[in-house]
Amino acid sequence: MPSPSFRRRYFPQASAKQWGDWRWQMQNAVQHWEALERFFPLTPEERAGCLAAQKHFRLRLTPYVLSLVDPHHPSCPIRRQAIPLPQEAHCIPGDLEDPLGEEKYRPVRALLHRYADRALLLCTDACPMYCRHCTRRRLTRGGNPLGEGEWARALDYIRANPGIREVILSGGEPGLLADEVLEGLLKRLRDIKHVEIIRLGSRSPVTLPMRITPPFARMLRRYAPLFVVTHFNHPKEVTPEAQRACARLVDAGVPVENQAVLLRGLNSSARILEALFLACLRMRVRPYYLHQMDVAQGAGHWRTPLRWGVGLMQELGARVSGLALPAFAVDLPGGGGKLRLAPEGVVAWGEKETLLKNPEGRHYSYPEPLEDDCHCPYDAIWTAPSH
Ligand SMILES: *Cc1c(COP(=O)(O)O)cnc(C)c1O
Repeated sequence: MPSPSFRRRYFPQASAKQWGDWRWQMQNAVQHWEALERFFPLTPEERAGCLAAQKHFRLRLTPYVLSLVDPHHPSCPIRRQAIPLPQEAHCIPGDLEDPLGEEKYRPVRALLHRYADRALLLCTDACPMYCRHCTRRRLTRGGNPLGEGEWARALDYIRANPGIREVILSGGEPGLLADEVLEGLLKRLRDIKHVEIIRLGSRSPVTLPMRITPPFARMLRRYAPLFVVTHFNHPKEVTPEAQRACARLVDAGVPVENQAVLLRGLNSSARILEALFLACLRMRVRPYYLHQMDVAQGAGHWRTPLRWGVGLMQELGARVSGLALPAFAVDLPGGGGKLRLAPEGVVAWGEKETLLKNPEGRHYSYPEPLEDDCHCPYDAIWTAPSH
């Protein structure tokens, strides 16, 4: 239902201004499954899912998210990402509490340092919506508050490690921090000489688009180079509000990228992914990753076979703009890090020619050059500018 009619029906007391205020959205979010039934009847599976999941992981739907739910179709992608099914309480053998083996890369509570040049700072353990496919639910399920004390220790660690070139602010949803609080963090990061790039991992454009106010977007712009990486999974999430949120960021000069998760039965079709990636591109949001679902506890029902994802990428490679194509990546269980998987292109390597296969499956030969010495003579005299 479009926001105004949904608001008038279910929140008759609220003005359009309140509806458009992210704090009002958070104050009026539904956090108990019984309260959901005020808006639409839950299916027996959803009711069982809510009961079973409540001891494992939180529930939260903002009025905005509620307004997007299709009350008649349990397979609605908004509904499926926000409301648990009984499978969430099942633990399949092989599912891992810490699917990415991150705990050994956690030098202080608020920091994951998995890749030498990048560190991920956990800003908060809260979110406007708790995604049912969350891979870091061990951190976001509640009881893991993160704040000033933990941030200070994380910043000390970053300061002491000059190899860290990029800091990713994540969580939880960093957008839930007040502007001044987030700006305080950004300022301190910018004061660290070796931190060149800042990335803000935020699902706000999708789950709480009113959070992206013009002053917020302008504030982020002051800390450039800063990239926002958001998380649209289905074209249904690309609403006028979400479009406005992305436009505010991009117009302010903040580049926005998208990482989607491949979710079985939700976006695991070439048609849906094509529509999703093209919708992102129209918002000037560049598709960055399509993630294979991790082996997280309670999320086994979301996983697709690895070769299904590669097949989808092959199909899309044959029909959409390269700008719309993300990298398909699997995070290797147990701490191996991300690995990009691409449809097999090389049929046979050769000295004189290499045999390749295009996305439509036709074979082509590439004549290898006569010279194979690839060193750059200028390297010997060129030094990278210092900053
Ligand atoms: C995914 C991830 C990153 C960033 O990886 P990119 O490939 O640069 O996007 C950094 N730290 C952690 C812990 C991650 O999981």
